[in-house]
Amino acid sequence: MSDAPPTSTVPEPANPGQYVVIARRYRPQSFDELIGQDHVRRAMAGAIESNRIGHAYLFTGARGVGKTSSARILAKSLNCIHGPTATPCNECEICRDISAGADVDVLEIDGASNRGVDEIRQLRQNVAVRPSRARFKIYIIDEVHMLTREAFNALLKTLEEPPEHVKFIFCTTEPEKVPITIHSRCQRFDFAGIPTAAIVDRLASICESEGINAERSALEIIARRAAGSMRDGQSLLEQVLSCCGTELTAEHLHRLLGTASGKRFEQLVACLVDRDAADSLAQLDGAVAEGADVGQLLEQLLGYFRDVMAAGVGCSAASFLHATSGDELRVKAAAQQLGLETVLAIMQIVDQTLARMRQSTHGRTLAEVAIVRICNLENLEDLATLAAAVRSGAVSAAPPGGQRLPPPRPTAAPLTSPSYEQKKNVVESSGNGQAATPSDEPSPAPAEPVELTAENVSAIWQQALDGITDMVADQAALADSVSLAAPRRVVVRFAWKYNSCKLSCERPDKAAILQRRLADVVGAPVQLEFAVDEPTNELAASARAAPSRPRTAERANHPFVRRAMELFGASSIRVDEPPS
Ligand SMILES: [Zn+2]
Repeated sequence: MSDAPPTSTVPEPANPGQYVVIARRYRPQSFDELIGQDHVRRAMAGAIESNRIGHAYLFTGARGVGKTSSARILAKSLNCIHGPTATPCNECEICRDISAGADVDVLEIDGASNRGVDEIRQLRQNVAVRPSRARFKIYIIDEVHMLTREAFNALLKTLEEPPEHVKFIFCTTEPEKVPITIHSRCQRFDFAGIPTAAIVDRLASICESEGINAERSALEIIARRAAGSMRDGQSLLEQVLSCCGTELTAEHLHRLLGTASGKRFEQLVACLVDRDAADSLAQLDGAVAEGADVGQLLEQLLGYFRDVMAAGVGCSAASFLHATSGDELRVKAAAQQLGLETVLAIMQIVDQTLARMRQSTHGRTLAEVAIVRICNLENLEDLATLAAAVRSGAVSAAPPGGQRLPPPRPTAAPLTSPSYEQKKNVVESSGNGQAATPSDEPSPAPAEPVELTAENVSAIWQQALDGITDMVADQAALADSVSLAAPRRVVVRFAWKYNSCKLSCERPDKAAILQRRLADVVGAPVQLEFAVDEPTNELAASARAAPSRPRTAERANHPFVRRAMELFGASSIRVDEPPS
């Protein structure tokens, strides 16, 4: 593999005194120097050595991963006076001219700035002309997906019957935008993102060549920001070096990038994981005082929690993209402490805050709100577990013919008694909005479980609701009927117009309250499920009675909507009708 620092870098010829940027000076000049693209390197070398050279290649991959460099190396391989060879000499005139991008037979076209059909027409005319000195006339078209449809059509005519002496190398970051007709005539090579460690190694060798004393942790920060792009990594290194001379430290870099220093960031994360809002805000304040930019800081958090998420789903530290090598244990501990659901919620909050910040001048306040919200997140893992428990009780529709509920009674005669004392009075309200009298009679604990029967199930349900102070009891009281589907399986059925109540009751946290309370009354675990009648004429009737409000409320009560509102701190302003 080519992770080892290349030994034979040939700097591109430059005018004396003219500065050539690092990314160009350290461009790979042979397949051996191509970093992180082993499969491409092997396949290409194999094809050249066994003389199976296609007439058109499509190089795909993100920017800065070596596509154009590879195109030039391939061109040298094909045209080197010692070739075709997988190891072009890099010394002959042809090799040197191709490296400099100045060879007469290798034409580089930038698809982004030559979108017109005229350029391709000209190309088609020139294609017929034999190469002036080398074996092949080679067209390298960068960002080929940018060509217009007419240009593609013109190109296609050449690709269908290419002259023997012509080779095409197309590069693109967006292969899906290249027409299938072109695609199918090319040998395709997909360039991978370059691993962070390989970028760090390369940057380290560049620093060494440039006489720069660089901390490895500083190069790690650069490489992580480059996100798989060698060119981005080299460009960033260049920018940084222009401000910090020959010494490059992580602290330097944090100041330049507006990010929080390692220690500060570590402390902030620790406070967030502990859900300590006051300390978290203090850490944010400290970071800002040290020169951090709140936007950059949130980007840092997003990256960090991305790794926590990866750890949470069981990925190894090798898959971490943002955490430094010293952070691994902390990342794993955070994943354990927070739980996956909470980590996802944190990422949503941070991501959404970043989006809002782009349109706001109150960046710091938004960041602080995000931090407080993170610290106030419920433990979503518990909710998810509850939801799973509720779901395991089967969510199928209840059988028809459940017993009708009696009208809400002021006090349901206790059949059994609550196993815990219910101090708070509960005000029941019926479907007609009649207020009911509070029930306040805690009774002694039952000796043994009450047997649920078709006859007593309604009364027991009523009694369970009487003992609940949560608002969900009001919604549950609007149920139309309650029935037994099995000895310990209670089905609560709502009329369609109260579907929103059913949905509320089904929320994992609410369902858990109802189920726990019912189990207390019965003295044994009870499965609880909710059903709703199919919409009938009743729907039309309720729609006539109240045209828009109930629908708005209904949708605002949908579990997904509620969860979204919680996560994003939103409120419902308007409900649009779905397109019919
Ligand atoms: Zn050569």
